[in-house]
Amino acid sequence: MSSHTNVNDSSNPTAGSLNQRNRALRRQESMLLIEPMPAIHRTINVKQQNITQEHVKPTLGVPLEKVERHKDLWFEDGDVIIWAEDQDASLLFRVHRRVLKESEAEPFCTVVNCDYPNPETSGEMFLNGVWVLKYHEQDPIDIVLVLKWMYERPSISKRSTIPFIALKTYLERSDECFSPPMRRCALEYLWNMLPTSLNYHQRVPTLVGDCYSENPLLFYKPYVLLTLIFLSAQHQLVAILPLLYYYIAQWPVDWITDGVPAAYMEWNNPSPDDSRFPLPRKHIIIVLAGRERLIHMRETKVFNFMDDFTSNGTTLDIPTQGCDGAKRQETGETCFEWLMRVWFFMSRFRFIARPSALEIMNMGQWAELKGNCCEACANRVMVHMLEGRDDVWKALPSAFGYHNWDFVVERQKCVEKDFEAEIC
Ligand SMILES: [Zn+2]
Repeated sequence: MSSHTNVNDSSNPTAGSLNQRNRALRRQESMLLIEPMPAIHRTINVKQQNITQEHVKPTLGVPLEKVERHKDLWFEDGDVIIWAEDQDASLLFRVHRRVLKESEAEPFCTVVNCDYPNPETSGEMFLNGVWVLKYHEQDPIDIVLVLKWMYERPSISKRSTIPFIALKTYLERSDECFSPPMRRCALEYLWNMLPTSLNYHQRVPTLVGDCYSENPLLFYKPYVLLTLIFLSAQHQLVAILPLLYYYIAQWPVDWITDGVPAAYMEWNNPSPDDSRFPLPRKHIIIVLAGRERLIHMRETKVFNFMDDFTSNGTTLDIPTQGCDGAKRQETGETCFEWLMRVWFFMSRFRFIARPSALEIMNMGQWAELKGNCCEACANRVMVHMLEGRDDVWKALPSAFGYHNWDFVVERQKCVEKDFEAEIC
């Protein structure tokens, strides 16, 4: 098996390069899975925290007095100093034991629960009379985020106050530190970002762009969705999956099957080649199957407004309600005739054969509709679409294999209960 993949194939250039490509894909996949995007993680955090290159240098062997102090997380009245050091960086934080304790985050809170050590007799490390706790092999930038969270958490769940990438840190650290408050904070941030109700859904796109855009690239950035998929697996975030799947279903199909091209990943150092970042395998089928169901729902629930204009749904009758059927001066058509033409146009050009089932008309299309129908007919179309959209929202979890929204939310509650129970 191994000789087949490693040695023999290298004599065949095609198989060799294919294998090379597969290996590269697997490497990227495992990189995302095990340590999602370390490059982004570090670069963005460094930028966020204004840590310059001078700060991020190894100080192994450098006296404690000379280790860099964090400029924000250094309180003159702090009663404990945290020294975080790994291969790349070394930073001191002077903070308050009270705040560490309130965070309920291991290992900080148990350490500060004990009596303050005696500088003379305890053998502990001290700097200017303040107790120093050293954390080896802890990424100082992670510690920055964790400490920032401790000090700023009353406001941190508001969307703008933490960078997206901090979410990952909080989820990972809340697992490691067994900190329910930190996890709750991360989840609150996440629910604000990826809501589980149609009302929230309507609000959110205003934060990212055109509400009714048909262009999937304008929705959530691919690397955000991919990161969230991996995070959901690592941290059991089941409640976000239906909506994640919904957005991913709008990607071009080859992104779903083969991976997102590096050019769309917004990494700081995008790969120069044609490498792609694949969805985890088990999600591909779910998304593709859901995609087909969404298209079907779009065709049957949202855009089949012709049914509303026929008397019993079996024969194409003239409009019976809300319209006198009179020909309009500009087009010489009745509302019904015009709508039927639109319907055939949309079907024929597969305008509606897209999985963006929750997005209906943009302002231009709505103006067009109003310009060619009487008000009653235009409203009738709109009401139909909005109702169809409600139905699609309700059916969204079932499109991706989850019973319904209540079921998803209940499952998430169970996960949270288990997480908190583990602590006790
Ligand atoms: Zn009409």
